[in-house]
Amino acid sequence: WRRSRARSTSGGRRGCRASRRRGGTICASRRTSLPAPSRARCPSPSTLPRPRASSWSTPPTWTCPPGTWPYAVLLPVEVTSALEDEILIIRFNEVLPLGEGTLVIAFQGTLNDKMKGFYRSVYELNGEKKNMAVTQFEPADARRCFPCWDEPSFKAVFKITLEVPCETVALSNMPVVEEKVNGPTKTVYFQESPIMSTYLVAVIVGMFDYVEAFTADGTSVRVYTQVGKSAQGKFALEVAVKTLILFKEYFAVPYPLPKMDMIAIPDFASGAMENYGLVTYRETALLFDERHSAAANKQRVAVVVAHELAHQWFGNLVTMEWWTHLWLNEGFATWVSYLAADRFFPEWNVWIQFLEESTTGFRLDALAGSHPIEVDVNHVDEIDEIFDAISYRKGAAVIRMLQSYLGAEIFQICGNLSIEN
Ligand SMILES: [Zn+2]
Repeated sequence: WRRSRARSTSGGRRGCRASRRRGGTICASRRTSLPAPSRARCPSPSTLPRPRASSWSTPPTWTCPPGTWPYAVLLPVEVTSALEDEILIIRFNEVLPLGEGTLVIAFQGTLNDKMKGFYRSVYELNGEKKNMAVTQFEPADARRCFPCWDEPSFKAVFKITLEVPCETVALSNMPVVEEKVNGPTKTVYFQESPIMSTYLVAVIVGMFDYVEAFTADGTSVRVYTQVGKSAQGKFALEVAVKTLILFKEYFAVPYPLPKMDMIAIPDFASGAMENYGLVTYRETALLFDERHSAAANKQRVAVVVAHELAHQWFGNLVTMEWWTHLWLNEGFATWVSYLAADRFFPEWNVWIQFLEESTTGFRLDALAGSHPIEVDVNHVDEIDEIFDAISYRKGAAVIRMLQSYLGAEIFQICGNLSIEN
């Protein structure tokens, strides 16, 4: 994907272009309180390549204040936030030295009621209403929780620590490495993640039950539910274990993380979200009750679980550079989820349903407001608009046509090469 037509630039530049197009103020800023001091590593002058004279209007200085080498603590002179463009501008008085630096920012997020960012969901425990903390960062709401370069191509490792009430379960992308109890709260330390995009980071805190199984190579797979509902997670668990084994073989790469948790959230804006190692679902897309649920629910659970687990490779391990290629991410995951469902439940004849379900994309495509599957995205406000049936359904139909044209074997080899690259 990274080799395809690249158009990602910095969020600030994109935002400013969009502001100009709408005739608004360009990068309107406001002053905010100063955060903690930034601490930049000041490298030794002898180890640095000499900059070309033409790239500097005044020669840079490499000298650190006496006694601070190899670190210099640099304080910003001004911190402003461009609200419309959702960017923070940190201005220093001097040119920052070349080399690695650590930017330290003290910040506060809000547990909001917007069903995006870091938000509150309500559930029942023994007839009592309880709050749960949940995250939904895709496409660009990680910045509501913590400051970050919140674009898919800016990957980083995440080491998360949570302080939560003792009786709650705290989950994140990676397994817990240590818990320390301090009176009514406990501090939970999670293992450092591999490099990943910010939109895939997740944190959940609440009271849950779970069912667990393991893949043949020892990966723990759990389905978390509200207390007392774990039996309804068994079908999804069974599908998830089989899917991880199938996709390891199909993509020719093992599942990249040490565990896979899937959790049903009572208040959830979309069907499901493929957070790396901690997939969140609307309850109806994960839970299945043998006695009361309809056959269509069973099929939906199987297809949605396979879709989200496909993203662990196609989307999470290999990520689109910018949202312009969302259709490839979603179209492929949609297509391959039918491939998995057909493998596990051939009696369902899901490919016949695939055709019927593709028409939701074509119906939208017939309207004047249609768009190509690949869309230029110029501002963060425009991303949500393309999470539609054209990206998912028409995108999946194009992938299926491509696979039919190339042949299943060649198509699979090409996909594996793209992941390997
Ligand atoms: Zn998806």
